[in-house]
Amino acid sequence: MHGVKSFLTPLVARYHRSEYLSSDPLEIVHRFLNPRDQEVVALLCAVLAYGNVKQIKRSIEDALGRLAKRGSSPSWVIETAVDEELRSNLKSFIHRFNQGDDLWILFKLISLSWKKYGSVGSHLIHYLKPDDKDFGEALSQMFDDWKIWLKDFPVQSKTFSYLISSPRDGSCCKRWCMLLRWMGRKDHLDLGLWMEGSPLLKEGGIRSSQLVMPLDTHTGRISQYINLTGRKTLNWLAAVEITDRLREISPEDPTQYDFALSRLGILSLCQTKYRAEICTRCELVTVCKFAKRHQND
Ligand code: SF4
Repeated sequence: MHGVKSFLTPLVARYHRSEYLSSDPLEIVHRFLNPRDQEVVALLCAVLAYGNVKQIKRSIEDALGRLAKRGSSPSWVIETAVDEELRSNLKSFIHRFNQGDDLWILFKLISLSWKKYGSVGSHLIHYLKPDDKDFGEALSQMFDDWKIWLKDFPVQSKTFSYLISSPRDGSCCKRWCMLLRWMGRKDHLDLGLWMEGSPLLKEGGIRSSQLVMPLDTHTGRISQYINLTGRKTLNWLAAVEITDRLREISPEDPTQYDFALSRLGILSLCQTKYRAEICTRCELVTVCKFAKRHQND
């Protein structure tokens, strides 16, 4: 595994940079300075992060515009009633499988987590034990609370469950793993807002070592190419397995490679067919079994 480190490190040096933020919904979170706003916007950005980046960003801007009709900072949803007026503002919102009512439910759950725990981060940390290897069980428990709370909501939506797929159900939970990476590690890209000492937390916090790799078609496929997993199905077990392999080379910060790895797919560099002009210049070519197979064709 240590061989892979020597290829991943230059990949990180090349792509884990602020100049690539524009290809990621995280860019929108960086527009806000107040940690309360950042938490609300990060949650919104993460749950809508499926589809292509252009469409994702358009939907996030649309949702933020609808929130702004009631207050200049998005965190008003944790202080003021999430009510019929907001529901009406969100009415015609649509992002692929999800609609305005799903966001209304999300904002209401966020505001309830704030009332009961002081932030969504504190709610999750409430269930996270210091010796947990990862946050999977804590996230499942937080979702259990949300599912109980939403039974009493006046608005129900069959499509809301798509926003909170749980590790316990076997999903790779890409969007939540990505959110946790934004909140559970800190550098020029990631915010570290759910780490110890954050103004959003009363006590404790997640450690970077407890994060899990966000798996999508790009990071999953590339992880298979470079032998981080042999699994064909990109589920929670695959995400944990890949993270375990990355822990071997970076025990304290296994998801530090995610942003760079996902740029290969998001920037349409690594595709499902071999392209010599890209692959021969790719940092991973020496360890990429897909490239090796096709180089000899
Ligand atoms: S060598 Fe080519 S196929 Fe392999 S990871 Fe790099 S871009 Fe993708």
